Amino acid sequence: MSNDFRSDVLAGVLGQRLIRRNCPKCRAPHAPSPALVAQYFSAPPAGGFSKGKGCDACGGTGFAGQLDVFELLTPDPAVVETIGDGAPVDELRRIALSRGWKPLVEDALARAKRGETTLGEIARKLPPRYGVRS
Ligand SMILES: [Zn+2]
Repeated sequence: MSNDFRSDVLAGVLGQRLIRRNCPKCRAPHAPSPALVAQYFSAPPAGGFSKGKGCDACGGTGFAGQLDVFELLTPDPAVVETIGDGAPVDELRRIALSRGWKPLVEDALARAKRGETTLGEIARKLPPRYGVRS
């Protein structure tokens, strides 16, 4: 390595967000706007999306509780070297993606495809700049 970055002190980097969970009592199929879908997907997922309609159980909000979405970067030698070299974030991101790292927006989008949250909720907490298109 070209500097004194101590790779032995970095075990991992965890990124996390809480996003609202669709209410299980009133959740129903939902079609978000094509523009919103296009911000995250090159083609709309086959299974579609869901959204809570609002009911007594959720106080009419359509949401009940929260989901924990996360990403975990465990540094392999290439990642450690990139960090130690002080590379720009975009470069670190490129290296991490090539090593199998999944940004937290990918976790969130998988949850939306399973109907656990809405695409609008993801856009509210994780704008497209946080991730890559699926
Ligand atoms: Zn509800």
